[in-house]
Amino acid sequence: MSVDKRRNLPEPVCTAHTDCFGNRKSKCSVLWDNDFGGRDCPFYKNREQYRDELQEVGIRWKRES
Ligand code: SF4
Repeated sequence: MSVDKRRNLPEPVCTAHTDCFGNRKSKCSVLWDNDFGGRDCPFYKNREQYRDELQEVGIRWKRES
């Protein structure tokens, strides 16, 4: 089980959106809890959408994994 060292909590599993910007090896690296009561994650966006939004505000995304 991977652990977010900043929070010392296990990263939640996310197999619904493996193309999400926050998805790292089927774990969510951006949320502490991704239980939305059976609904889809409202924070999902694919990496291209995320990169485009960062570029709109002038931030360059270096992580391409
Ligand atoms: S933000 Fe939502 S969709 Fe993206 S990895 Fe986390 S739980 Fe999954």
